Amino acid sequence: VTSTEAIGAACPICAKHRGTGPLAGGPLIWHDEHVLVFHRPPDATGRAFLGYLFIESRRHVPVLDQLTDAEAAAVGQAAARAARAIRQVLHPEYVFAAIVGRGVAHFHQHVFARHRGTPDEFDWMTGDRWGGAPYGDAAELDALAERLRPHFPA
Ligand SMILES: [Zn+2]
Repeated sequence: VTSTEAIGAACPICAKHRGTGPLAGGPLIWHDEHVLVFHRPPDATGRAFLGYLFIESRRHVPVLDQLTDAEAAAVGQAAARAARAIRQVLHPEYVFAAIVGRGVAHFHQHVFARHRGTPDEFDWMTGDRWGGAPYGDAAELDALAERLRPHFPA
């Protein structure tokens, strides 16, 4: 067992890629050999902010600067496609992308909508707290995933 595998065994994103753990539950939109693209899962209320995707490295690697060139290229292409998909399907005011990594030490990039009408008092990180923001249940997430998926390569 390598150290990467040992770390990955306890990692919630690695667990999610196996279909288990606390972060599982959002529909898988797309994947290739380097990355997986998921929609954010429903929260404790059973609903999720619509148009919030995660680009995740398949390999357990904690931070952006440890991606291989091939992984970085795959992440960049997937993020751009995710942004295009969100824009074309949901017609938001903006699509934001962020790499932070303070919460879970497995590379993931956030790509998410700022929906039209979001008041200025909600900054780029808090548009999902606006009461008018669109949320959907698991069935609505699956339907949205179906509409986003054609914007990725077959
Ligand atoms: Zn991991």
